[in-house]
Amino acid sequence: MDEMDRVLVIKAEQIGAEEQRRVVGQWERNISQEKWDKRFLELAEMVAGWSKDPSTQCGNAIVRPDKSIVSVGFNGFPRAIEDTDELLNDRPEKYKRMVHSEMNAILNAQGPVAGFTLYNWPGQCCSRCAVHVIQAGIIRVVSLEIDWDDPFVKRWEEDMKLSEQLFFEAGVEYVYV
Ligand SMILES: [Zn+2]
Repeated sequence: MDEMDRVLVIKAEQIGAEEQRRVVGQWERNISQEKWDKRFLELAEMVAGWSKDPSTQCGNAIVRPDKSIVSVGFNGFPRAIEDTDELLNDRPEKYKRMVHSEMNAILNAQGPVAGFTLYNWPGQCCSRCAVHVIQAGIIRVVSLEIDWDDPFVKRWEEDMKLSEQLFFEAGVEYVYV
C-alpha cells in the first residue's frame, strides 16, 4: 500500500465511523422520541377519562419541544354551563355545547402554542379541530395507531382523512405510534 492508498483508507474509516455515529445517534433519538410520545399519549388517555360525555371521551396534551407540558384538555361543556345527564344524553343539545378536547387544550394553554406538539386520544382530530390546530401553529400531531376497521373510526373515517390531508397541506407533521 503506498502513501496515497493509506491516506484514502484512513479517510474511509473516519467517514465510516462518523456516519455510524450519526446513524446510531439518530436511532437513539428516534427511540427516545417514541418513548416520550407513548408517555404523552398515556397522559392524553388519562385526561380523556375526565370527560363526562357518555359516548366519547377524548383527551389531549400540548407539549413543548423540551418535553415540558403546556396544557391538557378533554371534551366537555364550557365552565359554568350546566352539564346534566339529560343534556349529555341529548345529542343535538350536547353538540351545541361541547368544546372538543383539542380546543380545550389550546384554550387552557392561555398563551401561544406555536411550535408545540399535540397528543391525541383516542384518534385523529376532527376536521374542525384540525383547522384550529393548524391556525394555532402546532407543528406536530401524535395519535394512537388507528384501527380503520373499528366501528367508531369507520363513522369518522372520512373526517379523519380530511384532517390528515389538511395537516399534510399545512406542513404539520402527523404521526401514529
Ligand atoms: Zn374536534
